[in-house]
Amino acid sequence: MITVTKTFFPDLKEYEKQLERIWENKWLTNRGELVLELEQKLTDYLKSNSMIITNNGTVPLQIALKILGKQGEIITTPFSYVATTSSIIWENCTPVFVDIHPEYLTIDETKIEAAITPKTTAILATHVFGNPCEVEAIEALAQKYGLKVIYDAAHAFGVTYKGESLFNYGDVSTCSFHATKLFHTGEGGALFCKDRTLFHKLFYSHNFGHNGPLEFHGLGINAKISELQAAMGLAVLPHMETILSERKKIVDFYNLHLDFNQLETMIIRPETTWNYSYYPIIVPSEAILLKVQKALNDNNIIPRRYFYPSLNTIEYVNQPDQSMPVSESVAKRILSLPLYVGLTEEELQQIVTIINQNAC
Ligand SMILES: *Cc1c(COP(=O)(O)O)cnc(C)c1O
Repeated sequence: MITVTKTFFPDLKEYEKQLERIWENKWLTNRGELVLELEQKLTDYLKSNSMIITNNGTVPLQIALKILGKQGEIITTPFSYVATTSSIIWENCTPVFVDIHPEYLTIDETKIEAAITPKTTAILATHVFGNPCEVEAIEALAQKYGLKVIYDAAHAFGVTYKGESLFNYGDVSTCSFHATKLFHTGEGGALFCKDRTLFHKLFYSHNFGHNGPLEFHGLGINAKISELQAAMGLAVLPHMETILSERKKIVDFYNLHLDFNQLETMIIRPETTWNYSYYPIIVPSEAILLKVQKALNDNNIIPRRYFYPSLNTIEYVNQPDQSMPVSESVAKRILSLPLYVGLTEEELQQIVTIINQNAC
């Protein structure tokens, strides 16, 4: 079966080599040697701001909202994974959606200002499929209105924009190291932040607020990762160049062979070094999408409707008045194609042929 993604597994020996260190140390969690080493290696690899490795990519969003003291209205994108919106609601804030750019698929920065009210406190936007938001325009708006900026950068591992790690933009950026993501630790994620005071708050809050064993800086939660997960990260990281070059070949194949008279793909923002994290196609209608999906499924090829539905339409979000025409339309017509190390040229040829025959 060909699925939308397959988790990258390093050689078992490489993982075992890391596990042996854990057995020697007799230390499983609470920021052990492997977690600290992975943090250092990732910071060097990404050339990013200081980072804190976390247990997943969702809790960091909640911590960021909480620690920035955010209440009231949070401006956000309707086109993302549900965690972006659910974190806002989980923190008792109100999501105020702003529609997306039809080609970049990120929040439409030109529509943000009209959505700002006296209750607006922050912007939480997603670098969709690793494609950067218009970070400079967003930063300018944040300055003008005194808002904080959080980026859900779950897909942005290794992406640079204007030569700099995309994780370095915004007050706080978060990433996910989930098994389905480009770089993974099974479950895992990270917080990135350049401001030292804010970094310190994020840091203690991810470990119950501890200031040593007996004192507390303030409120916290448990967002720590274990040594077992860090071991996976340390075994995967040396393969990143291979992972990226293999994925690039697949993306190049799709770009060359898909019939762009019938469909579109995401346009990468200029001055971006992208990470080949997802390959979305956008077809003219939902009916065509369902037809393409069925034809692929009939051949044991399982793409994913990512992202669907548009988040403003989820019932518990309870924002029936916030209609988002671009996001709702794209969400109905977008399909993420198989993209993983090990996908063969014959399989790619089969996928492309089926799509080109059915996308009309
Ligand atoms: C995967 C993902 C998350 C959640 O990350 P987890 O590590 O699964 O908690 C959040 N936002 C986006 C855009 C994602 O794709």
